[in-house]
Amino acid sequence: MRTEADVVVVGAGPAGLMAARTLAAAGRSVVVLEARERVGGRTWNGVTIDETGVEHFIELGGQWISPDQTRLAALVEELGLETFDRYRDGKSIYVSPDGTRHEYEGDRMPVSETTATEMQRLIDELDALAAEVGAEAPWAAERAAELDTIALRSWLEQRSDDAEAIDNVSIYVASGMLTKPSHAFSTLQAVLMAASAGSFSNLVDEDFILDKRVIGGMQRVSESMARELGDAVVLGSPVREIEWATPDESTADPRNGIKADVRNGVPNNGAPGRVVVRSDKLTVTAKSVVLAVPPNLYSRVQFVPPMPREQQVAHQHISMGLVIKVHAVYETPFWREQGLSGTGFGGGRLVQEIYDNTNFGENIAGGTPGEEDPHGTLVGFISDVHAEQMWALDADERKARILDAIALYLGDEAKRPIAFALSDLGAEEWTRGAYATSYDLGGLHRWGHLQNRPTGPIHYACSDIASEGYQHVDGAVRMGERAAQAIIAHSKQ
Ligand code: FAD
Repeated sequence: MRTEADVVVVGAGPAGLMAARTLAAAGRSVVVLEARERVGGRTWNGVTIDETGVEHFIELGGQWISPDQTRLAALVEELGLETFDRYRDGKSIYVSPDGTRHEYEGDRMPVSETTATEMQRLIDELDALAAEVGAEAPWAAERAAELDTIALRSWLEQRSDDAEAIDNVSIYVASGMLTKPSHAFSTLQAVLMAASAGSFSNLVDEDFILDKRVIGGMQRVSESMARELGDAVVLGSPVREIEWATPDESTADPRNGIKADVRNGVPNNGAPGRVVVRSDKLTVTAKSVVLAVPPNLYSRVQFVPPMPREQQVAHQHISMGLVIKVHAVYETPFWREQGLSGTGFGGGRLVQEIYDNTNFGENIAGGTPGEEDPHGTLVGFISDVHAEQMWALDADERKARILDAIALYLGDEAKRPIAFALSDLGAEEWTRGAYATSYDLGGLHRWGHLQNRPTGPIHYACSDIASEGYQHVDGAVRMGERAAQAIIAHSKQ
């Protein structure tokens, strides 16, 4: 196994593997050190077993691709993988705040005229902000400080007194995306999410956002890249320490031997240096590092010398959201026979959104390529405060409460799945939440400008610091490629 390489990549999620793939293609030697015994990070193929012992395929993490996610779509093709469309024929269900169930067609929720008008007005305003601020550098926008110091909830309440409209607009970005309550993140953070998807209107359009899945599961994207890299990918190898600058006697502070420019927060510009990366299995010496882990985990690594003070401060203001992804498998997709698409929304409810997530082709355990699984699978999401409440219950009560909540949309038949599974990335040491990280209130405009700036020879890559594809696999792939290209450009100079 290599103990020297041009570049060490920390983390074999889609960002890290894309960085390694790009570097390897440019002739750079690379070692990827991954903490887990698998690649893919927050993309994770799994199975749930039914009462008769049959395994049903599920995706525990990221799975959907939307039309704007062009870098990921191109990569899927480059890797020889195929996609299929989410099932969406038939009527959707809306459960209103009083618990009444409504069936509807098209993309307009069956709310009163007044609420519909209010929703559209708020969406239009958020669309205009997304266009004004953009996704590339929201912290540099003229109104960055103003928008970053007001919680999305307060911003919406300043503009409308229609609680149903506010709940329904905030669901798309709060429980639906950042997976934090809308009082816990800023309007600027919400606008970044919208701008990264093209517009707020795109976030609202589930046909756009939840468009396609990879046959065989999204983890295959990472598995295919890892296969290309062969034994350059080392699993079960958490990185504990990155020594990234050798104390230089001429400039060293006599108190601790650390270069003055490092202590004062003026790291160099990403140029190669000498880096020693120590993991549980391997110590690798390299010229550059790509740190491809979610920012909430930076502090799990010891940096020698310590990170510049501004980074140490900034990293404490970034945290994971929290969401449970629920899978319920049925003998058949019974809702389709009732003319329903399986899509349901209910702002503020325990399960605030459900979709038909029936598998296709090789996704089926022992399945037939090119054919849909005869079993019906539903996926639902339980976000932030509700997720905490569910984990506090015992498993039987949790399951009963969740199935009751799904039955509000699809009736009592939904209470009788043949298999049921919850994914809990919050309990995973090397993720600690879901879907992704975001700044606390006011953090994005103060520290966002640092998130992609290399620290000496350390480059950062992760979906959570992306502009396009922010918090999505597409953003991870873009950031991995970008970090690799920056390293390649530096080494040509
Ligand atoms: P990760 O996938 O988190 O990979 C980071 C890797 O670093 C991990 O493998 C981790 O084990 C490793 N690591 C961490 N610390 C260390 C260390 N010290 N040493 C070595 N290795 C380390 N995105 C979509 O596009 N569509 C979706 O439908 C979607 N749904 C989602 C649903 C859920 C439940 C979740 C959790 C996420 C979802 N996402 C979705 C988000 C998507 O999965 C992530 O944006 C993407 O996986 C991020 O890739 P990444 O490489 O940046 O980080």
